[in-house]
Amino acid sequence: MNPSPAPAPRLWIRNPQAAFTANGLDASGGLVVSAGLITEVLAAGQSPSEPCQETFDAGSHVLLPGLINTHHHFYQTLTRAWGPAANVPLFPWLQNLYPAWARLTPRDLELASTVALAELLLSGCTTAADHHYLFPAGLEDAIDIQVETVRRLGMRATLTRGSMTLGADDGGLPPQSTVQAPEVVLADSERLVQQYHERGDDAVIQIALAPCSPFSVTKEIMAGSAALAERLDVRLHTHLAETLDEEDFCREMFGLRTVDYLDSVGWLTDRTWLGHGIHFSDAEIIRLGAAGTAVAHCPTSNMRLASGTARVLELEDAGVPVGLGVDGSASNDASNMILEARQALYLQRLRYGADIPVERALGWATRGSAAVLGRPGLGQLAPGMQADLALFRLDGLRFSGSHDPVAALLLCAADRADRVMVGGRWRVVDGTIPGLDVAGLIAEHSAAARRLAGG
Ligand SMILES: [Zn+2]
Repeated sequence: MNPSPAPAPRLWIRNPQAAFTANGLDASGGLVVSAGLITEVLAAGQSPSEPCQETFDAGSHVLLPGLINTHHHFYQTLTRAWGPAANVPLFPWLQNLYPAWARLTPRDLELASTVALAELLLSGCTTAADHHYLFPAGLEDAIDIQVETVRRLGMRATLTRGSMTLGADDGGLPPQSTVQAPEVVLADSERLVQQYHERGDDAVIQIALAPCSPFSVTKEIMAGSAALAERLDVRLHTHLAETLDEEDFCREMFGLRTVDYLDSVGWLTDRTWLGHGIHFSDAEIIRLGAAGTAVAHCPTSNMRLASGTARVLELEDAGVPVGLGVDGSASNDASNMILEARQALYLQRLRYGADIPVERALGWATRGSAAVLGRPGLGQLAPGMQADLALFRLDGLRFSGSHDPVAALLLCAADRADRVMVGGRWRVVDGTIPGLDVAGLIAEHSAAARRLAGG
């Protein structure tokens, strides 16, 4: 008879300076991590119910659930702050960028994804969604490359198999050379789901299907993706209602408003999350809420491109799950989730008033984002949740004189976590990623960016 396996060791993250749990629990005494899970959340003065083999004294840290990014385009780190796209709105921004993006190579994508993920991780992010829709000749394995990159950094990701099928020759926005045939898109989508999609609360990699936007895909690929997602039981993602130009395009091309268009292709479901979701009427917000369709709010990108302001409180009141996204680095240009929570707080205060608390913005970045990605085991500090944690120190100059530690994170603009844990493993220690050669990465990534922009 085999002896029963030894119980997993327990780690007590003890007495944080402050904690935000994204629920009603009090974590003043810290929490216990074992076998990749949070097994206990301790109120002030409480101790673990069983002995712990290890203790981490969090007396100088603010403890949060790991932040979750719901919308990005990692490859765009190669075209940050690039002159031709620096001071224009969405449509000319895209038209200036498409030719450079069409030159993307496998090594470029690997470098760009590493940079974006490392930036996110250092900002306290443990799970990231990426929307990748560029598959020029030679880059057919784009998502496979991203899977390897995510695994190397030890994060979780929802990688989306994006697509563009409506080129300029047929009235779309992207150049014809960047679009793919729908049967190629759907076959590769199915391959990726079969090969990589994990199920369950502890999933590391998930795959979703993601036609790019109304002005770059056909109705056929939207409907085909919805049917395939239903058959394979995976999520759907696209850009919607980002700008008024897009609204005009939908009216002229399809004779529909954006939400009617979404409905007409079978996407008005709780399987779908939408990037941006700005320009909705009152009635459309009600419809989205009734369907359970989710929104990735991307405040920095929306301000940078002057796209508009998402109606986040009204969306939530209607039952729409809302999370945060940094969006691609050609329109942010930072992959920083804790700063994005600050931007969301301030942009929504501008719309609704100064009484939106810091905790609500942190809720969008954690529990809200987990709901958007369909990850119920993430985004909160509670027993049974995955041990995905972000810990911030408040000993820098920018925090000096601050009083409420949780409020200080956003109001004093925390931008870097000191410790980050994913699935019970420390992936950031003392503000750095062990094993990552940052200087070497910057040198190679910068050279790739210069080449891509230079043609
Ligand atoms: Zn986007």
